[in-house]
Amino acid sequence: MTSLPVIQTVPDTRVGSAPSRRAAMPPRHLADLDLPGRQAVVAELGEPAFRARQLSAHYFGRLVRDPARMTDLPAASRGRLADALLPELLTPVRDVACDGGATRKSLWRLHDGSLVESVLMGYRDRVTACISSQAGCGMACPFCATGQAGLTRNLSTAEIVDQAVHLAGVAASGALPGSPPRLSHVVFMGMGEPLANYARVIAAVRRLTAPAPEGLGLSQRHVTISTVGLVPAMRRLAEEGLSVTLALSLHAPDDELRDELVPVNQRWKVTEVLDAAWHYAECTGRRVSIEYAMIRDVNDQPWRADLLGRLLAGRLAHVNLIPLNPTPGSRWDASPKPVEREFVRRLRAAGVSTTVRDTRGREIDGACGQLAASAVAG
Ligand code: SAH
Repeated sequence: MTSLPVIQTVPDTRVGSAPSRRAAMPPRHLADLDLPGRQAVVAELGEPAFRARQLSAHYFGRLVRDPARMTDLPAASRGRLADALLPELLTPVRDVACDGGATRKSLWRLHDGSLVESVLMGYRDRVTACISSQAGCGMACPFCATGQAGLTRNLSTAEIVDQAVHLAGVAASGALPGSPPRLSHVVFMGMGEPLANYARVIAAVRRLTAPAPEGLGLSQRHVTISTVGLVPAMRRLAEEGLSVTLALSLHAPDDELRDELVPVNQRWKVTEVLDAAWHYAECTGRRVSIEYAMIRDVNDQPWRADLLGRLLAGRLAHVNLIPLNPTPGSRWDASPKPVEREFVRRLRAAGVSTTVRDTRGREIDGACGQLAASAVAG
């Protein structure tokens, strides 16, 4: 049976709000701004406005960030433009590969010393970047490594976008054997709660999906925002006019267990969070992805599969079961395969489309909830 610690009601200062100390945000970067914003900065420097488009084409289109390689810009302007709009935001600390080179994890140091990670995953038909939206996370889910350390700060829009642009460069260099050379998908499933950093994440989605040279030109449908279930932000997202995929980290179909596994449930209950998910599906026509980490003897009982099936039957939803990736020192483990298979069988019998997520990146701590934890631990 469950042997979970009793989690006190999470104070308002931790859930869904900014860190208390005024966090040190990085210098401005062109990815923080839309094209008119970049043109205004360029004009302030006394340069013709079209330089904004040229710089953007280098950064987003050619994935070039070194001013020396921007030979269509006058040599005298390159340094000045790069200083104003292309500061280095992410310093690479470590890169590790596994799965025969098809999964690559990057650890970055930010200007204030915070560490964040991103993962690039190459498949036969697509390339996915898993990126972070915050340094740390304030949501305190007890099975997630990021949740244990708390929130350091929100990332800026450009710090979020730059992870994807860096990884697009890795893919373009041919580093992923057997995969296309073009980044096609972005998932906000790295560190942090994207909807707790709402405005910057939405701006990042707009940069990632704007056509080049304004942005990276990804399809909105190929961007997934994953959330613990911040209901007001989910409802706001439904009104943005974006057709991104929403993933809801449910992990339990009943409030008693979800209050412990996803503490923000103490504020917004299972029925409220699912209502917000169905509202999103209605507004966008997009199927919502329900994330469910399979934790042995905690949330994997047949009756919970049946209850989940009843909650989701007939809805525009898809269940993604994630074998738990145990965090160091955790007493929890992944569900045994036969238990997982029975859970899948019951959901499908209820008419709910269900898959089990692959476990890319486990040997390099690149799997869900493990990002940067090993680096922080030394
Ligand atoms: N804060 C967001 C996004 C980041 S985590 C969210 O919670 O949705 C991305 C997914 O990985 C979430 O579904 C999260 O619950 C899951 N996850 C975190 N730690 C995990 C672990 N140790 N094993 C399996 N899944 C985990």
